[in-house]
Amino acid sequence: MKETGFEMKDVKEYTILVPNMAFNQFTLIQAALLSEGYHVELLSTASAEVAQMGLQYVHNDTCYPAVLIIGQFIEALRSGRYDPDSTALAITQSGGGCRASNYIKLLRKALDQAGFHQIPVLSFNFSGLEKDMSLKLTPKLIGKLVAAVEYGDLIDGLYHECKAYEINEGDARNKTVEWLDQVSSWLLEEKNFHIHDMKKMFPAIVKDFTRVPIKRTEKLKVGIVGEIYVKFSPIGNRDLVHFLEQQDCEVRLPGLMGYIEYCIANMKLDSDFYGMKPMLGKICDQILSIVDGLGTTASDALKSEGFHGESSFREIMEKPEGILSLGVKMGEGWLLTAEMIELIESGFTNIVCAQPFGCLPNHIAGKGVIRRIREKYPQANITAVDYDPSSTKVNQENRIRLMLAVGKENLQK
Ligand code: SF4
Repeated sequence: MKETGFEMKDVKEYTILVPNMAFNQFTLIQAALLSEGYHVELLSTASAEVAQMGLQYVHNDTCYPAVLIIGQFIEALRSGRYDPDSTALAITQSGGGCRASNYIKLLRKALDQAGFHQIPVLSFNFSGLEKDMSLKLTPKLIGKLVAAVEYGDLIDGLYHECKAYEINEGDARNKTVEWLDQVSSWLLEEKNFHIHDMKKMFPAIVKDFTRVPIKRTEKLKVGIVGEIYVKFSPIGNRDLVHFLEQQDCEVRLPGLMGYIEYCIANMKLDSDFYGMKPMLGKICDQILSIVDGLGTTASDALKSEGFHGESSFREIMEKPEGILSLGVKMGEGWLLTAEMIELIESGFTNIVCAQPFGCLPNHIAGKGVIRRIREKYPQANITAVDYDPSSTKVNQENRIRLMLAVGKENLQK
């Protein structure tokens, strides 16, 4: 691979393109990075050409999120909107044994082939990967990123719940945009991102959402789980949230912080199960307690105003017991099973499990456990939907419609 000539000390001179995955959370992550001088732009291109573009540079046996992310980057660079000499790309790396840790190599190869060899690829990870090309995670930036995800998850959950029951169309979205703007400006002004600030602001945000006029009626409650990218990204799941909203469902997506906590918890599990890095395991356990405490405060604030609040992460970790071992931690691993159970136990018995093509780990922890979950929870109505470049939207939607029809029957019973 060719040299880019890029030096990390110049990174703040570059426009950094990041694929948008979860709109509300990523809007705040962008603000957190902007506040530290990184000129981040989120890519939200959703045309069908993105997948075709990706397939020109990535083998079609590669997992679908890689095809989409790489296609989206190349499409943006080819559009002429960005100067290749001052543009960088950034992707996250989970650091697990999964292929996501290697997307960066695939992207580098695609850039060379597409004639963009000078474009640097930055990594966003907590695992010490790609040390020379990683964004520097200072304690302040980490604090802001945690705040961005926590606030983002809270606002996202409130949006979905209000959206399902809003009396005046658009009220839930307007309130959401209002709060995204407010939290973005806090982050840019370096305000309200410390733990004690967040604990004060969570109840204020929830209280303000109670001003959205809603009328609760009996609706089909549908949860979405799956591989992280196709679960959240509208290009990954063909705008699944919008489709379910059109079918008059209440939609729920487990928060993004859950995935981050899962990655932290796995380091502790490595130490418990295999004796790996015991000191790191202890530190991770303490970090988990702090982050989980924040989640619990958000959840309590939601419940106190009659909204839905998730169980604490420690409780969620106990959910797969008897179904899947916590040692299963490739891809979304045990978290995928745990999220399905959490949804079922909180009344979201209808579930779409979004699975990308080529994703073996999540086929095991998702599709592979559905029978066992149904044995334990007979009311569970789960459908696994495969997402890949060749599957048609009609087929995917018909599969989901079938699941919704069963859900409606169950609701009437
Ligand atoms: S979780 Fe699945 S889709 Fe994601 S990198 Fe791993 S195999 Fe690919």
